Amino acid sequence: MPPTLIAEATTAQFKSTLGHILVVEDEDLIRETIALALTEEGYDVTAASNGRQALDLLQASLGKPSSAAPRVVIDLIILDLMLPYVNGLDLCRLMRREGNSIPILILSAKGSETDRVVGLEVGADDYLTKPFGMRELVARCRALLRRHQQFQTAPKSLTLQYQGITLYPEECRVTVRGDLVSFSPKEFKLLELFMTHPKRVWSRDQLLERIWGPDFIGESKTVDVHIRWLREKLERDPSNPEYLVTVRGFGYRFG
Ligand code: CA
Repeated sequence: MPPTLIAEATTAQFKSTLGHILVVEDEDLIRETIALALTEEGYDVTAASNGRQALDLLQASLGKPSSAAPRVVIDLIILDLMLPYVNGLDLCRLMRREGNSIPILILSAKGSETDRVVGLEVGADDYLTKPFGMRELVARCRALLRRHQQFQTAPKSLTLQYQGITLYPEECRVTVRGDLVSFSPKEFKLLELFMTHPKRVWSRDQLLERIWGPDFIGESKTVDVHIRWLREKLERDPSNPEYLVTVRGFGYRFG
């Protein structure tokens, strides 16, 4: 039986400043259990039971007029992969393509490495395989929100800071443990991208697309070379990096 076209959006009327989480899951029991667990932790929760409804809520969250959904500002999305109408991966892809950087935690029954890679490739920030414990889910949400909010509340147009490294986006200037270090434009853009998404794993292809642009014709080795140059400028010991970490099988991560 097909699901209802637009299911009712349920918004828990819970006043908090911890954050507003959108739970997108078509299995009622899982969705409700997650919503309850998060509400008990003090989060505001909105639930959606299919991809189209989630998209409507997200459009509304960004203040886009086309949507009939209520306007709630979403801070984090918990996203199932297998969903009616618009699946989780497509939803992720759509959001990132529109430049929406809300953190996304993917839930999936699939746990193979390929699925993980695909999830991270399309721009998810974290991945949890079903079945999972609610405490782990809550802990991951808390970590993702903290990371994102820390960043949001930092005066980001002025400086990006991480353990001794300070990047001044408007002045194209970087200091490393107090010393001014010069970076090429590509290195600077790379570092800025990494620092605006701490802990996020980027694949070489994603980095090529974001920094070199979709029309770039070249090899992903280009990325490795730039990472090496960045490491030489940032790391105390470039052969044993603390900042720009290689995530085997995925790509690179900052922090
Ligand atoms: Ca599902």
